[in-house]
Amino acid sequence: MHRAEERCRPRRDGGTCEHGRPLGCAAVHAPGSPIVGQPLCVDCYDYTAHVLWHAHAGKLWDRFVIGVRRQLASSVGLVQSRFPDHARLSFARVAEYQRRAAVHVHAVVRLDGPAGPNDEPPVWGAADRLIDAVYASARRVLVRTPYSSAVGELALRWGDQIDIRPLRADGTGPNDDAVAAYVAKYVTKGASETGAGLDHKVTTWEDIDTAPVSKHVRTLMRTSWRLGGLPECEPLHLRTWAHTLGYRGHILTKSRAYSTTYAALRAERAQHVGLVEIPDAVTERDWRYVGSGHTPGAAFIAAGVAEDIATNREIAREEREVRR
Ligand SMILES: [Zn+2]
Ligand SMILES: [Zn+2]
Repeated sequence: MHRAEERCRPRRDGGTCEHGRPLGCAAVHAPGSPIVGQPLCVDCYDYTAHVLWHAHAGKLWDRFVIGVRRQLASSVGLVQSRFPDHARLSFARVAEYQRRAAVHVHAVVRLDGPAGPNDEPPVWGAADRLIDAVYASARRVLVRTPYSSAVGELALRWGDQIDIRPLRADGTGPNDDAVAAYVAKYVTKGASETGAGLDHKVTTWEDIDTAPVSKHVRTLMRTSWRLGGLPECEPLHLRTWAHTLGYRGHILTKSRAYSTTYAALRAERAQHVGLVEIPDAVTERDWRYVGSGHTPGAAFIAAGVAEDIATNREIAREEREVRR
């Protein structure tokens, strides 16, 4: 991939790939240059893996979450099933499309006492322990794609760029507002600044041909469309999600313990109906992480312009309970 500001991809010995294209790039590209985020060789670039990574990002996330909980439990000698008696772990994440049209995840993880955000975390629940658990799980999780005669089997993981920063509510770190602002920044960036994908579905191959996107993004859409035609890829709905490059479009997701203000979330949703599938931001093989938790607050949730199925389900359940 071409990158901006520093020397792009310097290579002392030059050399070309099997398609005759240079393996390196000695230029220094301006951040706004259209070449940034484009592959050095479109024939070497693994478009299939890129799309399939997107398509499995949700599963990778789910496994990661389970892994953090497991890791934490075992680090303090707790049986997994007793964990909820001691602590509650909650997550909120924002997916952001990078210049290379790959999704990158920003997440806030918090550890509270068993009753949730208003409950003191357990004595063993220091930031360092949480950070270790996050690293361990992020490094370990793996999703294998079902075997396909066209594609083979891929092993998908998070990338190497994991960046964890503790956030504390005790005055030594950013406060609620800072956390909310941090997340909102990426949500905003996703919606307005990137050119990865479209805000509406494509229904034909011709729609992809005429979409106002870069060649790289168009190739990703085509790849998604093609893979979507394979019976083994059917569960991934890759044609339905070709406009988001295979990523199934939940820009903001959070776990139940995070939902302190469903009312605020609903109000926000009312204002953003129609934006729910904006996928200007996506996922990538690398992701950054913000770890350790204390009260990112309701503003965080209000920053969301999209929600996931789990949230919908949660709200539906809550509404059913209210009706009863
Ligand atoms: Zn370059
Ligand atoms: Zn090549």
